[in-house]
Amino acid sequence: MAEAAEGQERLDRIVDLVATSMATEVCSIYLHRDEATLELCATRGLNPDAVHVTRMRVGEGLVGGVARRRAPVNTADAPGTKGFRYMPETGEEVFSSFLGVPVQRLGERLGVLVVQSKEARQFTEDEVYALEVVAMVLAEMTELGAFTGEGEALKPRHRQQVLFKGVMGQEGATEGVVFLHDPRVVISNPVSDDPEKEGARLVEAVDKLRLSVDRMLSQAGGDSEQKEVIEAFRMFAYSRSWLRRMEEDINAGLTAEAAVEKEQTAARARMRDADPYLRERLTDLDDLSNRLLRMLTGQGDRGTVPEGAVLVARNIGPGELLEYGRKLKGVVLEEGSVGSHAAIVARAWAIPLVLQAQGITTEALSGDPILVDGDQGIAHLRPDDMVRSAFGEKLAMAQQAQQRYASIRDTKCVSEDGQRIELMMNAGLMADLPSLPTSGAEGVGLFRTELQFLTRNKVPRRGELATLYSGVIDAAQGLPVVFRTLDIGSDKVLPYMKAQDEPNPALGWRAIRVGLDKPGVMRMQLQALLRAHDGRDMNIMFPFIAQMEEFLEARAHLTRELHREASLGHKLPGTLRIGAMLETPSLAFAPRRFFEEADFISIGGNDLKQFFFAADRENERVRRRYDTLNVSFLSLIEKIVTRCTQSDTHVSFCGEDAGRPVEALCFAAMGLRCLSMRPASIGPVKNILLKADLGEVRRVIEAARDAGDQSVRPAVMEYLRRR
Ligand code: PEP
Ligand code: MG
Repeated sequence: MAEAAEGQERLDRIVDLVATSMATEVCSIYLHRDEATLELCATRGLNPDAVHVTRMRVGEGLVGGVARRRAPVNTADAPGTKGFRYMPETGEEVFSSFLGVPVQRLGERLGVLVVQSKEARQFTEDEVYALEVVAMVLAEMTELGAFTGEGEALKPRHRQQVLFKGVMGQEGATEGVVFLHDPRVVISNPVSDDPEKEGARLVEAVDKLRLSVDRMLSQAGGDSEQKEVIEAFRMFAYSRSWLRRMEEDINAGLTAEAAVEKEQTAARARMRDADPYLRERLTDLDDLSNRLLRMLTGQGDRGTVPEGAVLVARNIGPGELLEYGRKLKGVVLEEGSVGSHAAIVARAWAIPLVLQAQGITTEALSGDPILVDGDQGIAHLRPDDMVRSAFGEKLAMAQQAQQRYASIRDTKCVSEDGQRIELMMNAGLMADLPSLPTSGAEGVGLFRTELQFLTRNKVPRRGELATLYSGVIDAAQGLPVVFRTLDIGSDKVLPYMKAQDEPNPALGWRAIRVGLDKPGVMRMQLQALLRAHDGRDMNIMFPFIAQMEEFLEARAHLTRELHREASLGHKLPGTLRIGAMLETPSLAFAPRRFFEEADFISIGGNDLKQFFFAADRENERVRRRYDTLNVSFLSLIEKIVTRCTQSDTHVSFCGEDAGRPVEALCFAAMGLRCLSMRPASIGPVKNILLKADLGEVRRVIEAARDAGDQSVRPAVMEYLRRR
């Protein structure tokens, strides 16, 4: 199989070789033309005229069934088997037995390998196994472009232009090069005729792997929960059957790395149908296989981030993303959701983000040219000249808009009917602060403090935090900064905190709940904040307050720390304003006293919306179902504004929706006078507000509400078009 030849010739030789050695009349190779269709690409025994003519959809007939289920079909009576489809052009009706195995690579479907015979016989387990090994080698050879030739199914891999249609995560357009978070390991030598040598390589790598897992275990120290997880991981590393299967693969003629990958592919196929518990375990195995592959091939090092890098990953946590720093020009994820914290980081950096770009991690190679269009949620991989030039026009238009925003940067935001609206920016990193003067923001309305905790591998120290916070206040040059205390839990998991086994983390032990139950870290953070202010005015808010008591209790902690700092002789802040984030619907209905006690309230629309509609902010399936401009949600906003007005409490909105021009316009029309958003949104939002008559927009909203509309969006959009 390893002999050099042209693509088609090579395929033809392989089918001959397999049919002869398995003593079957037929051997055929079907490869994918596209995601959904397979094409007969080589055959010995079927009608040769059917090659590149016979096609079937995934799921269609026995061959399509093998592809869909990613599992072998082995039958002595093919025509009598459920799903059989007769294809007259192939002349296959005379064959009774059928054995088909998937050709796949790490979960990616590439094709199906089939043998058939006239004699009605069930293939033995050894025969199935042998054909699977051949399929594995075929998969590696396909990856390496060994079968490139005429026709769609034989097109070279990783060369063509591909368009990925995903979901918009962050607007903007950029041109750059792919930088894979998990680089592909490519096996250039799948077969070997020296099983002894390969076996020794495997054993050596497995030994190294085991040692590294043992080290992890000893480093876990006394943390029993962490130990438990690593113990389970270790069990896999020491699994005899895993090693035995790989050794069998090597004896069948595979190299050590090909054997690891074959078992990994099989495990991934099982993972798809596994229950959540088993899937979790198989993920451990996947992780171990990746480590082994990297050891054996010496590949997989990400290398340094190149100039113009667009990060491509299956998914990524905020901590991992932050580790890349601000060198990225864009991010394209295969999964991911708009509400996740990784998305918020990308938004803070104002780099285009595309989510749900299915298949991109298997198609893209590091260094491939890529165009990212965040507005439409699409990415062009390896674009041709036509696409490139159209994209250039788009980039130029975006630049024009930026110039317009720059021209209104120093204009105060006052609507056409004379309403003053404060526009603030959200931040979370020291590196965000330079955006304060360039965006025209009037201060930082939300400083998310958890990002410093997420990027470290242990709890940061008080002195370190105080220095950082002080730097933030300095950089704001007298403009207000609202610090939010640590908001962890849910999707923001600290690597060094015990993972909580909670059935529903978004509704679980998070944010202020952790702070109040285990106040140590919160108190340390409060001390750091008090010291950082050192006589300057201070604004602080507590996240995720669901009832008045929680706010009063958190404030009591702050007061205690204030007294302690005073007794130690530290300088106290100037004016101290203590606020709460309103992120749960319950708080909108809190006793009047709460609104009187809080110095200010900031509406955390991301969480508020998810709890109001009971729709997970990170679940793409449900997230878009409920419009922010739904009358129910706008009525809740109206209620909060009214209650704050009654108690004369300052109120702002700091969720992501504040940065969307039409949403911001409607919030302002409902009475919100302070909006906090990512810096890049300030220009577009100010642009619309300066030209708006908020009284008129309010009347449009009310008319739509009175008319019984579910969302006021159509009415508002129509009004904006008319204007
Ligand atoms: C929110 O929930 O709207 C918010 C601003 O907080 P975060 O996105 O950090 O949860
Ligand atoms: Mg929140």
